[in-house]
Order: sequence, then C-alpha cells, then structure tokens
Amino acid sequence: MATEVLPGLYQLKVPIPNNPLGWVLPYLVPGDDGYTLVDCGWNTPEAFAALEEELKEVKVTFDDIKRLLVTHVHPDHYGLAGRIKEICNAEVIIHQRERDFIRSRYRNPEQLLERMAGWLVENGVPKSEMTELQQASMPARAWVTPVEPDRVLWGGETLDFGRYVFEVYWTPGHSPGHLCFYERKQRFILTGDHVLPSITPNVSLHPQQMGNPLGDYLASLRRLETLDVERVLPAHEYEFKDLRGRVNEIVEHHDTRLNEMLAIVGDGGTTAYDVASGIVWTTGTYETFSFWMRRAAISETLAHLEYAVQEGRLVRSMRDGVVRYELSDGG
Ligand SMILES: [Zn+2]
Ligand SMILES: [Zn+2]
Repeated sequence: MATEVLPGLYQLKVPIPNNPLGWVLPYLVPGDDGYTLVDCGWNTPEAFAALEEELKEVKVTFDDIKRLLVTHVHPDHYGLAGRIKEICNAEVIIHQRERDFIRSRYRNPEQLLERMAGWLVENGVPKSEMTELQQASMPARAWVTPVEPDRVLWGGETLDFGRYVFEVYWTPGHSPGHLCFYERKQRFILTGDHVLPSITPNVSLHPQQMGNPLGDYLASLRRLETLDVERVLPAHEYEFKDLRGRVNEIVEHHDTRLNEMLAIVGDGGTTAYDVASGIVWTTGTYETFSFWMRRAAISETLAHLEYAVQEGRLVRSMRDGVVRYELSDGG
C-alpha cells in the first residue's frame, strides 16, 4: 500500500519474495515535470505487479515517471530499472561508482566469478564450500533487468524538482556508490540501505570492493550525523526519527563486532573464514546460513579485519597463498 509521507510524496512498498527483508520502500517524489521514483524493487512478477498497483492507487502512470533515481545497484533497488526504462523511458540516474558494476555483475560475470574463486581460497575457504560460495550471487542476476544510466552523480549535486529539492550525499560503505538524498527545508532524508532503523546493512570487503569499506562506511555515517533531520525515510523496514541516535548505535554495533573478531584472532583464528565461522551473528551462526549468507559473513568479517589493520590493531600477512591476520603488538 502506498503511504503519503509528505505532501504529494509517497512511500511505496514492494515485496521481495522469499527474503527476510520482506520489502523495499521506493519513494515517489512529485516535481514540476512529473514524478521521480527513488529505487524500484526486484524484477519479479510479484514486485512489478505491486509497483503497478500502488502507482494506480495514487493515480500515477508509468508515463508520469520522468526519472528513476537509484540509491545503489543491488537487485532490490535497481532490479526493475531496465523494465521501467523500457516502459516509460525515464531518465536513469546512478552514482558513477555503481555504474561500473552493471556490466561486471549483471551482464558478463565470468571474470568476476574467476576472481571470486581465487579470493575465497586466499581467505581460507575450504574446498568443500568453494563452488557454492563462488556461485552464491548468480541467482540474483535473474532479478535484475540491467540498464545503463542516462546520467551519473558523484555526490554534492542538487536535484531541484520544484516542490522538493534533494541534496545528493555520496555515502560509500554498504556499496561503493551508495547515495542518500537530503531535503534541507523539509528536514527529511532518504537513506536507502545506508541507515536502517533496526538492522545494519552488510558492509563487505570483496573483489569489487577493496580498500577499507568499513572505514568508508563509518565516515559516511558521521557525515550525516550533523544534518538537521526530523524524519528518516529508509529503503527497508520503516520510517524513524532519530538519525543521530541510530548512527551512534550502528557505530557501537561495529565496534562490538570488531572486538569479538579480535578476540577470535587472539584465540588463534587466523583467516577471515576462521573468524566468520566463529562469530554469533545477529541472524544466526555460520553453519546455519545459506551459501549466500555465508559469503556475506566472510566479506563482512574481512571489512572489519581490514579496518583493524588500518587502525594498527591487526597485522596482515600472506603465507602459503592464504591471507592471515594476527594481533599487532599494540592491538
Ligand atoms: Zn543494498
Ligand atoms: Zn536493500
């Protein structure tokens, strides 16, 4: 059901079948020349039907949609982009860094699969789990109709729709080109997956997301903290108010998680695989997870371990083709 959260601005609710997240919340933003849709949902018949139905409910047709603004290219936010483009030729707008993933993930993934296999071995994954972990995100390709953006953003732009004006915030971490949209006058922010009210988004180090993604994520959280915000409109779960409070909770969550991981390293665990399989995650333990969740657990672990290396708390070395972590003298 569509909900009018601000004058003329609707929060839609598009189901994600067979997924614990339940739904994605696209936003329909009115403007002088028509509507802007922020995020769109998986490419499944159920999701498309729900989107169509909700648009009908608020008397908006696909032809009224002039642009599709994508917070990041994960299937639940970008999946229907190609289909919507085909129907109404909306202008598709994505961050530059996300554009680069469209081809390698959704169109020609062969090279990525090869890199993934090498990367899993390096991080201690045993042979028995290799193939399943390597292929874990391939089913997601069916949920995406890829399309190239008509326009890319870098962060720092202002998108003036008339009634609402969005300031574009580049918030890397959950995905390297993740975007949030801030409405200064009306004091609300669309946070995508960056800040959610009760769950924390996956922050991963993997072959397409190297460097220090957890460091990036924490820095992008802190950038939002100082904004004057009354209402937070996320892409999952539900609307909430206290952005600053939630940012602090998330920072604390990662701090606790990092300490748990360092304790496992202190007990002799050396690879990302050792650590990931020793943690009690919010959603269960490693052996109870699907292969997709297992890989997410390993890459989330690596984001924490690399962060600790950058902070000088761990030392990383490569032995026998495997990346190993040890507590540093000061750690
Ligand atoms: Zn996401
Ligand atoms: Zn999402």
